[in-house]
Amino acid sequence: MRVQKLWPYIDWLRIWKNLNDAPVSEDTRCIWYHVIHDIIPTNVRLHRINTIPSDTCRRCTATDTLEYRLLACGQGRKIWYYTKTLLARMMRTIPTSIPDDWPFRPHFSTWPSQKHRALLWLLANIVIFRMQQQSDLTLQDYINFLNRTRWKLMRDKNGRNLVGNYLTLRLLMSYIYMEHLFLMFLDHTQRRSTIDGTPLDE
Ligand SMILES: [Zn+2]
Repeated sequence: MRVQKLWPYIDWLRIWKNLNDAPVSEDTRCIWYHVIHDIIPTNVRLHRINTIPSDTCRRCTATDTLEYRLLACGQGRKIWYYTKTLLARMMRTIPTSIPDDWPFRPHFSTWPSQKHRALLWLLANIVIFRMQQQSDLTLQDYINFLNRTRWKLMRDKNGRNLVGNYLTLRLLMSYIYMEHLFLMFLDHTQRRSTIDGTPLDE
């Protein structure tokens, strides 16, 4: 396959197994298949065969590559960072240690299998969410989307067994919770510094 030639040192058998093992709908798997095999008609591709006049994104002026569309346009970077935070929490590591190519080439393996499938579920879902071609969708929209998709998975006993306790609501909400705590902290320091007679603004 073309992708095997482009990235020859990557374990493609592992990637295809992961694609099959992801606990997601067939529609989601199909779109992830297209992304993994790099066969999405981005504007760069369409422009190259003269189908459209420009290779830039329809919403911003950046070049519309697959990487840009998936992880950068609009709130893409924020959404990907949030996703990395969740992946890192599940793997008990830090977000920066999660490779940026996992949505395109999920070539990892981890244990236990429920954790492994929970990671795949999240990666497949960021791909689907970002491929909706509405880059004005926010991080909050993404979190709502994940909650709905998680609910669909969890209402089925088989779905629950596939991911175990790795996809908790608490995990998905942790980022908002952290932001909330941070704002409370700010509020608290502001109030305290006012009491001390040294307002934060000055
Ligand atoms: Zn854009």
